[in-house]
Amino acid sequence: MRLEGILGQRRAVAQLESEMAAGRLAHAYLFVGPLGTGRGTTALKLFQALNCEDRGGETACGVCGPCRRALARQHEDLLVLAPPNDQASAQIKVDELREMIRALSFAPFGGGTRLVLIRQAQQMNPSSANVLLKTLEEPPPGNILVLTVQDPGEILPTLVSRCRRVNFLPLTEEVIAGELTRRGLEPQAASLRAALAAGSLGRALELDQTRLRQTLERLLEHIQAPAGPLGDWSFAEELVAPFRGGERLDRQGLVEALDLLALYFRDGAAQAAGRPQAALLPRAGVEFRGLDLEAASRGFGLVRACQSQVLANAAPELAVAVLLQGLHGAMPAS
Ligand SMILES: [Zn+2]
Repeated sequence: MRLEGILGQRRAVAQLESEMAAGRLAHAYLFVGPLGTGRGTTALKLFQALNCEDRGGETACGVCGPCRRALARQHEDLLVLAPPNDQASAQIKVDELREMIRALSFAPFGGGTRLVLIRQAQQMNPSSANVLLKTLEEPPPGNILVLTVQDPGEILPTLVSRCRRVNFLPLTEEVIAGELTRRGLEPQAASLRAALAAGSLGRALELDQTRLRQTLERLLEHIQAPAGPLGDWSFAEELVAPFRGGERLDRQGLVEALDLLALYFRDGAAQAAGRPQAALLPRAGVEFRGLDLEAASRGFGLVRACQSQVLANAAPELAVAVLLQGLHGAMPAS
């Protein structure tokens, strides 16, 4: 049976389809890829394909009882475990994990295949992970476990080695923009969102365009005003603050926020090079205030350097403060 309606993940889909056709599905999978790239949807489609009542169909029918209950997340054989509210800073509860494992010892209610989806599997603490180990190695018959992570380095190697891996790639801007347009967004707004979505449809759907624009305006205002190192430092702290949740720093989130600034310079360069049709931000009402090609290229390089430093575990406030200082020099005086 084919898996239908999964955006832009041809290889992952082909892998699962051929394993399903050959009767060689693994009992445990690790879906690896960025948030919002269809890992959960794929698990759902796999469940439907395995439990659809229309066994002769090319794809899951979508209308039989099991298909509909799965779509409404109400099928008793489709179990989902995730940190509370799907928060990346919260932990998957060990009690819920134990309860899930107990449930697996009973045959699936519908007589088909039960699927357990563990979202954000990196949010299991070591004792939860240990509780899961034995089940992952040999789940009772009729059960498939799917763990999703962004990076397999975030979970114990003993978990990784017990799962078959399926890779999910960041979605291209075209795929994201196409889907947003299909959902009724204006093409211009869709391509702007797609450019800022870092390959994630989920992120594209969640983007708050007004807030992003306000953040960009504040950044530009700060960069264009002459500011001493102390001013840059406190502004950097202010910029980083929303990405700190207690002990944890959302480096990826900060890097994605800086993408907006990178896009500003990329667009500025396009504009200065006489290719305004390639620029996305003017469609959202952003102006470039006399940015020339050299300044735009330099700004773009500085933002990218800062992003790599943040990902390479630099102190984020420091990396951002250095970026701001570099940008004061790069921007045209207002
Ligand atoms: Zn069906």
